[in-house]
Amino acid sequence: SLAIEASELTKDYGNGRGCRGVTIQVKEGEAFGFLGPNGAGKSTFVKMLVGLIRPTGGSAALFGERVGTIEAKRLIGYLPELYRYQEWLTGEEVVRLHARLCGVKPPEAQRIIPRLLEEVGIGARGRDRVKHYSKGMQQRLGLACALVNDPKIVFLDEPSSALDPLGRSDVRQILQRLKAQGKTLFLNSHLLEDVEILCDRVALLNNGHVLHTGTVSDVLQEK
Ligand code: ADP
Ligand code: ADP
Repeated sequence: SLAIEASELTKDYGNGRGCRGVTIQVKEGEAFGFLGPNGAGKSTFVKMLVGLIRPTGGSAALFGERVGTIEAKRLIGYLPELYRYQEWLTGEEVVRLHARLCGVKPPEAQRIIPRLLEEVGIGARGRDRVKHYSKGMQQRLGLACALVNDPKIVFLDEPSSALDPLGRSDVRQILQRLKAQGKTLFLNSHLLEDVEILCDRVALLNNGHVLHTGTVSDVLQEK
């Protein structure tokens, strides 16, 4: 089955804003980019897919499981935009807390946390408090949290827009590795450079509508 199948998915905030009839299909293992300016509706769409907000119209499923169900939530990792951590905790503690919230058993969490921190490049800083982390390190920590349940599909909301160029390229490298491991990626961004290397296909979003869907070069030519 498809990793993501959204059909006329709609969120009407009651003020003419939100997402209007978004239809997309993403295959397993694909990296899909949602490209659009601030306010286009990218976060709204992802929040519907991860089950944080309820659609007001249309439908969507992840690997055949209706969004918002426990079955769908088990399949996903989510890196929200500008996630704030309890900054007095250490990186390890943040991931452990997140593992708890995701229902990962403590012995299993204990086993995987060092590997996860290593994988996102902060293995040596796991015992430092988050308040001493740079923005880039915080995003890596967010990625470690998003991966704690070994998700099949990872949603990333503007993962690098708050980062400097070095931080951006680090995050991109991690995402490339996740893609190589076969994870399905869904990436929101207003930056073309974020999606053009990583993403197999993109949808251009404006004002809650999809304008075009295709490869990055298809979509740029159609503009
Ligand atoms: P993006 O992620 O592309 O920046 P959002 O999905 O955050 O866009 O927002 C899309 C539009 O919906 C924006 O115009 C935003 O102001 C509006 N919006 C977002 N959340 C709410 C809300 N809770 N109530 C009303 N309007 C909202
Ligand atoms: P509240 O309703 O208590 O304010 P929210 O649902 O808005 O809580 O979540 C608070 C913060 O945690 C938000 O930034 C949200 O994006 C983030 N968040 C919520 N659920 C998850 C999750 N499953 N994984 C990662 N971050 C999450």
